Amino acid sequence: MQSTLKKLIGVVLLSMMHVHLNAEEGLDAEKLAYFRQLPKAELHLHLGGSFPKNYIYSLSTKEQQDELEGKLKLLEQGLDYHEAFSIFQLIGRIVNTEEKIQKGVEALCVALREDGVSYVEIRTGLKDLGNGLEEYLHAVLRGMESKVSAGFTPKLILSLQRHSSLESARATIDLAIKYRERGVVGIDISGDSTIGDIETIYAELLRGKDAGLSYVVHIGESPREADQLKLLEMLQPVRVGHGVHLSEEARSWIIRHSIPLEACLTSSVLVRMIDHYSEHPGIQLFRQGHPVVFCTDDPLLFSTTLSKELLLAHELGGLSLEEAERVAKEAIDFSLDRSCN
Ligand SMILES: [Zn+2]
Repeated sequence: MQSTLKKLIGVVLLSMMHVHLNAEEGLDAEKLAYFRQLPKAELHLHLGGSFPKNYIYSLSTKEQQDELEGKLKLLEQGLDYHEAFSIFQLIGRIVNTEEKIQKGVEALCVALREDGVSYVEIRTGLKDLGNGLEEYLHAVLRGMESKVSAGFTPKLILSLQRHSSLESARATIDLAIKYRERGVVGIDISGDSTIGDIETIYAELLRGKDAGLSYVVHIGESPREADQLKLLEMLQPVRVGHGVHLSEEARSWIIRHSIPLEACLTSSVLVRMIDHYSEHPGIQLFRQGHPVVFCTDDPLLFSTTLSKELLLAHELGGLSLEEAERVAKEAIDFSLDRSCN
């Protein structure tokens, strides 16, 4: 009877941790400090979901702050994968000029540095804020370049979506090629993975590939994705993001080609891809010796940091402290910046 009670208490505690997993007080402060001081590589982070909260608030009206706070609270309780995308639209309405983008990138770099991140690949889709896509790109690059130091290297990945227009894909590929020397290291396929058909922009993606661009793809975010194997075979990505709901063929392909998996644990729990940290397929793949990196996805949306994700991989994902540290140290080997590996 006592052991049943203990089990019950365990389940209740686990579900409480599930809800409050991003509250710092629930984490071991000493271990968190340990992960903070480790030099780390963050390889999966979207700019729109990563601006520091105090920076967003400095630009917001009271109504916008309340709206954002409300949406973040909903996310903390676990949101549907599709609903999570509405926050990006709100953030886009707040950070709506090139100057605000540049300052936001600078604030993000400072926050990453404070968390001990020494190398980051920031992802963003190009936007026209009134002065064209290239001006937006300049703003992001200026923000990054102003924060480069001996201990901090930021790089940029340009994002496209499965349903991006041909025109947008063409412009993005052109600019990615043009700005390689200034730190653009690849192309990401992201957005709602259940919308759109990659065929529309495939020729452009192939042109980028022929020009030497590397690809990372979001895959397995939803069991409703129909194009997994096709996407992998077409783009031969250097890394894959999430990989939670993989078809058997896609999973075999990723294992056969030893493609590192970017596991974003808190993100996957909060958008209800999985119920608990330990269920993430990245944990299982790690146990099989497959290369896995832990990433935040969107630190603002999921109230997380890379140090917290590593600690959670240890506390809730079942990795030993040494294993989590090893994963953190090896992440840089999977960067798209060829000068790093
Ligand atoms: Zn992502």
